Amino acid sequence: MSSGCIFCKVVAGEIPASVVKRGEGMLAFKDLSPQAPTHVLVVPTTHIGTLNEAKDAGLLGKLLLFARDVAQDAGIAAKGYRVVVNTNPDGGQTVFHLHLHVLGGRAMHWPPG
Ligand code: AMP
Ligand code: ZN
Repeated sequence: MSSGCIFCKVVAGEIPASVVKRGEGMLAFKDLSPQAPTHVLVVPTTHIGTLNEAKDAGLLGKLLLFARDVAQDAGIAAKGYRVVVNTNPDGGQTVFHLHLHVLGGRAMHWPPG
């Protein structure tokens, strides 16, 4: 746990969150400010600041499959969805605990802003 990290606090249950799925070393919960009808965040339960610091390819693979499962559970897999990892300020990252956004329930635009 990294002190002061919002998502470490969510993982520890110190901040309430709408949890949609639990996995080994992973948690999925609804985004507080949804940008689509389905907007879920998938996080590792151990603190990793950004994708740049990630070293464990196995964990990254598990997170991606978990995000896929979240989309399936939400009923958006067949029509389509988007998985996004914003990285550092130019990438739009505002919470510095690695997370995958799972967005769907509407058509996405390309390119993203
Ligand atoms: P990013 O900009 O990629 O770092 O995404 C951070 C996301 O976390 C934003 O979409 C926020 O709406 C979301 N967020 C921030 N705090 C919380 C929280 N306590 N619970 C759920 N989502 C949050
Ligand atoms: Zn953290």
